[in-house]
Amino acid sequence: MSEVPRFWRESRHRYRLVGTRCLNCNTLYFPPRVICPSCRRESVGKMKEEEMSGEGEIYSFTVVHDGLEQFKMQVPYIMALIKMKEGPFVTGQIVDCSAEEVRIGNKVTATLRKVRSEGKEGIIQYGYKFIISP
Ligand SMILES: [Zn+2]
Repeated sequence: MSEVPRFWRESRHRYRLVGTRCLNCNTLYFPPRVICPSCRRESVGKMKEEEMSGEGEIYSFTVVHDGLEQFKMQVPYIMALIKMKEGPFVTGQIVDCSAEEVRIGNKVTATLRKVRSEGKEGIIQYGYKFIISP
């Protein structure tokens, strides 16, 4: 289990909603970008990491009945396009509720969940999912 702390340190982008903000035009990007696509060359070296609040609103969603092999046990599951409070859109799974409870416009909060176990070692990957805000 000595691998676990290293994994957590090296993959913070996977479980924290960290984007990058262009200090030139002030646009926040998620997933993080190295170069601002609007400002291009001018903004090199002016991107700054910024963690988002994890709060957002469901913009659209779909109920998935055919999962990828590793997700079979979770079928059906709900995938949503979420507009984060800070502006960027994030695709994520909605958990802890039934498909009937999900509505466009629902307020959601990011939460850290197990995504899948991998290989014989059973290394568990964590990632963000979303729950409907109380
Ligand atoms: Zn820019």
